[in-house]
Amino acid sequence: MCAASWGTPPPADSPRLELTDPTPQRASRLASSPDRLFGVSAIEQSRHIVTKIPGPASLELTKRRAAAVSAGVGMTMPVFAARAAGGIVEDVDGNRLIDLGSGIAVTTIGSSAPRVVDAVSAQVADFTHTCFMVTPYEEYVAVAEQLNRLAPGSGQKRSVLFNSGSEAVENAVKIARSHTKKSAVVAFDHAYHGRTNLTMALTAKSMPYKSGFGPFAPEIYRAPLSYPYRDGLIDKEMATDGELAARRAIDIISKQVGADNLAAIIVEPIQGEGGFIVPAEGFLPALLRWCRENNVVFIADEVQTGIARTGAMFACEHEGIEPDLICIAKGIADGLPLSAVTGRAEIMDAAHTSGLGGTYGGNPLACAAALATLETIEADGLIERARQIERLMKDRLHAVQASDDRIGDVRGRGAMIAVEFVNPDDAEPDAKLTNALATAAHAAGVIVLTAGTFGNVVRFLPPLTITDELLSEGLDVVTGLLGAL
Ligand code: PMP
Repeated sequence: MCAASWGTPPPADSPRLELTDPTPQRASRLASSPDRLFGVSAIEQSRHIVTKIPGPASLELTKRRAAAVSAGVGMTMPVFAARAAGGIVEDVDGNRLIDLGSGIAVTTIGSSAPRVVDAVSAQVADFTHTCFMVTPYEEYVAVAEQLNRLAPGSGQKRSVLFNSGSEAVENAVKIARSHTKKSAVVAFDHAYHGRTNLTMALTAKSMPYKSGFGPFAPEIYRAPLSYPYRDGLIDKEMATDGELAARRAIDIISKQVGADNLAAIIVEPIQGEGGFIVPAEGFLPALLRWCRENNVVFIADEVQTGIARTGAMFACEHEGIEPDLICIAKGIADGLPLSAVTGRAEIMDAAHTSGLGGTYGGNPLACAAALATLETIEADGLIERARQIERLMKDRLHAVQASDDRIGDVRGRGAMIAVEFVNPDDAEPDAKLTNALATAAHAAGVIVLTAGTFGNVVRFLPPLTITDELLSEGLDVVTGLLGAL
C-alpha cells in the first residue's frame, strides 16, 4: 500500500516526502511485525464486506458496551473498530469500511499516519509526562512556535495548549475577558462550541447537547448567523450580501448586549455540527471590523475547520481575516488529545501568571503527534489535496442535486462538504430521509455523519489521504442508496 497515492499525482515540483520510506526505527519494528507495513496498519484500501453490518463481534461488543458504558454516550453506528489507515476503518469482524468521517474531522492526515507513529513511539520511550507547568519541555514550545507561524496574521502571536476543543474555547473566553475587563460573550445561531458548562451555554442546539443539563453559564447572548441557503428562502439579498447579514447581527448585539459589556464574539468560520454552513462572503470581515472598532475580541472557533481541512490551514484565510484568537483542536494531532488557543500576543499575554494551564495540557505525546502532523501536511501538499477533494465531491454532488430536488443545498469547502435534505415542496428540513440515508450507508460499509440544527444534513469529512477511487466509491454508494429511498 502506498498511503500517498491519491489518484491524481501532485505537481512534480511540490515538496513531498515519500510516505512509503520507513525510518530505520520503524523499519526495525516492521521486521518483527509482519502484519504491519510502513509503520501503519497494512490495511488494503478497498471496501470489503464479509458479514452483515454490524457483524457478530460488533454485536457482542455492543452488548458489553451497553452493560458497562454510560447510556449518555451516543454512537453513530454499532460497529467496533480494530484498525484504521488512509481512507479505511477495519472493524472487529474484518469488514473494511470507507471512512468519510475521520472520527469527526480528527484524522485529517489518515489514522496512524507514518510520521505520527514514529514521533509518538520515540516520545513515549523518552518520557510520557512531566507537566509543562512543572518542568517544561521543548515539544510544547515547538508546537506553539508552529501554530504562531501558521495562524493568519503577521504580528506577534502566542499559543497555549490544552486537551480538547471545549477546553480551548473555555480558555479563549477567559483570555478575552481578562484582556477587555468585560464579561459578555456573543455566539451565533446553530453554533456548536462543546459540552462543558460554558461551552454548552455557547452551543445553540438544546437536544441532545444541553437539555436537562442547566443552569448554564451567564452572560452568553445569541445573534443571527449568515445562513445563505435558509436566508435565501426569505430574502435573496440577505443570502448573498454578507455585510447585510453582519449588520443584522451587529444591530441585535448593539441593542441587546452593548459593546461596552461585550468581551468577545465567537464564531465558527464554517459551522461544523450546525451543518457546514458557510456564511455569505463579507459576513466575517464585517463582524471583525466591528469588533476592532469596539474593543471586542474576535474568536474564531476553528476546532473543526482548522488544520488543512477546508483547503487552507485555517478557514479564516478564505475570507482574508485575521482573528484575534483562534481555537484549534481535532485535526492538529491525528487523534491524540491536543487543543490550542493561538492569537495576538497582547491579548494572549493578558491573563495573569498561572491563570491558564492544566495538568495534561500540551502532553508531550500529543505535541510529538502535532509536530509530525504539521510536517505531513506541509511536506505532502495536503492543503492542495483538500481542494482536489472539494472539486471531486462538489462536481459529483451537484450533478446528483440537478436531478434530485430533495437536495436543497450542497456546500462546504475542501474536505468538509455537506448536503442539506429538504421537502421539495416547501424546503422544510427532511431529517427522516437524512437518517435513513446515513443508516443505509453504514450498512453498506460507508461511514458518514449527520449534522444540522434540524438534523437534515449529511456531512462528509474524509481523511485527506483517501484515494480518489475510494472517495468516488463512497459517493457512488451514498448517491446510489439515495436514489432508492
Ligand atoms: N468547537 C467546534 C467547532 C467543534 O466542532 C467541537 C467538536 N465537535 C468543539 C468545539 C468541541 O471540541 P471537543 O469535542 O474536543 O471538546
